[in-house]
Amino acid sequence: MRDFVPWAEVDHAALRHNLRVARETAPGTKVWAVVKADAYGHGAVWVSRTLGALADGLAVARVDEAVQLREAGVAASLLVLEGPFSEAEIELARHWELQVSLHNEYQIGLLQCAPPGRPLRFWVKVDTGMHRLGFPACEVPRLRSLLSSCPALAGSPRWMTHLANADDLADPLSEQQTRRIREELVAGDELSVANSAGTLGWPSTHADWIRPGIMLYGASPFRDESGGQRRLQPVMTLRARVIAVQRVRRGEGVGYGGEYRCPQDMDIGVIGIGYGDGYPRHAPSGTPVLLGERRVPLVGRVSMDMITVDLRGRPETEVGEEAVLWGAGLPVEEVALAAGTISYELLCGLTPRVRRVHRAVVGST
Ligand SMILES: *Cc1c(COP(=O)(O)O)cnc(C)c1O
Repeated sequence: MRDFVPWAEVDHAALRHNLRVARETAPGTKVWAVVKADAYGHGAVWVSRTLGALADGLAVARVDEAVQLREAGVAASLLVLEGPFSEAEIELARHWELQVSLHNEYQIGLLQCAPPGRPLRFWVKVDTGMHRLGFPACEVPRLRSLLSSCPALAGSPRWMTHLANADDLADPLSEQQTRRIREELVAGDELSVANSAGTLGWPSTHADWIRPGIMLYGASPFRDESGGQRRLQPVMTLRARVIAVQRVRRGEGVGYGGEYRCPQDMDIGVIGIGYGDGYPRHAPSGTPVLLGERRVPLVGRVSMDMITVDLRGRPETEVGEEAVLWGAGLPVEEVALAAGTISYELLCGLTPRVRRVHRAVVGST
């Protein structure tokens, strides 16, 4: 039976390969594999089972996300990048043995007032130029002594900072940020700086722990290139089927608003995926879609459940055929560029209506 629902294949062999690339690119470092936002849309529990066995730990944004993984049986070290925001979250972090990052006085106040309990392992986030989260670098000495003696916290602080513009290989900011935090460290301090762009583009940012996200899913963090150019393999391949082929007369419009006008009598393919699935509504006419080996251009507006494509380049197309929206054979970066966004947003934006199909999972049949 053919299923006409769109699906996203998640290739766990590619996931393992991409983690190896991260390790080879930053030899000697430990790896926090970032699985926030449902593992960039790939399915956090599944991805965490695979990466949890191979990375040194997994990182999520929120306590909630970490609890979900623990409840699903993920035993790997877990780091909550935004840290706890309430006593209840501190309790959850203690209960589930989560490591937390601390980035402001509010969180320190919470920990200082927390009832006695198991001390938490922790990282301190330092702002070196991103100006989003973190303490100013000049506060590092004060924080070191303050936090080393806080009963709610275990051991001495470990330090992290986040790069603001590492995807621009011409901007010296990444090296300045790394230098700024290093100035404040003492022997024995552990440091984490690099995201994917730092890992791939800035060896000076590798430090003790890297925190790759997007590269593990096979996409490049750099503009105008795809992960393949960095030896990365796409993990997600988003597929849907042709649900109709329509003959449309010259001069007629296609889809809402009829913005696209057929320049001649032609076949239009209708594919069963739309913005209700997470396909970007702003993808303009011309955005590539893969049918068999051939790229055909999207035409007309993206609807909630469907898109339309120009079949003049592939007249043999039949109802029921599979199309690839991104992934194997069509880099997600290319689709993102056409739609005026980034691969991260496309991957994270897939809705629950799209079935995830996990392939090459170790231990499954
Ligand atoms: C999301 C995130 C990362 C991973 O970033 P990528 O660009 O996907 O590699 C690393 N560190 C922090 C603090 C993050 O929030």
